[in-house]
Amino acid sequence: MEHEPKKNRIRINLLLALGALLFAAATIVLWFLLRPKPGAGGSFVIRYGNGETLTVPADETRTVVIRDGKLVDEATGEGDENVIRIENGEAWMEEANCPHRECMKQGRMNEETANRVMSVMWIVCAPHRVSIEYVGNGK
Ligand SMILES: [Zn+2]
Repeated sequence: MEHEPKKNRIRINLLLALGALLFAAATIVLWFLLRPKPGAGGSFVIRYGNGETLTVPADETRTVVIRDGKLVDEATGEGDENVIRIENGEAWMEEANCPHRECMKQGRMNEETANRVMSVMWIVCAPHRVSIEYVGNGK
């Protein structure tokens, strides 16, 4: 008869331990589900035409073509053209038919380069008035 309370206490402790374990497991699962995906930092804002903007999440893989100040699916015929590639959190000017192709020489921009001091925060094609800016999640 002395055994019974002791046994119950052990059972209660076991249940408490199990409960704590389940809670910890649930917390870990939730953390995995809710944490931001790697590379899903910010987005690239492409400005073109008469102040139009196109925002592409940095974790997307996409090619954006701008011709004569319009996204290419709206455009017709030949003219100014910029091909912007977004891949693996980076953006760069893949093709451009501007006079000196300075925008193609500006290299690749990602979250790291955009936040570095004295570094490229924008890729700009001045003759075509097209720019790409990196915007982090904090904004
Ligand atoms: Zn250019």
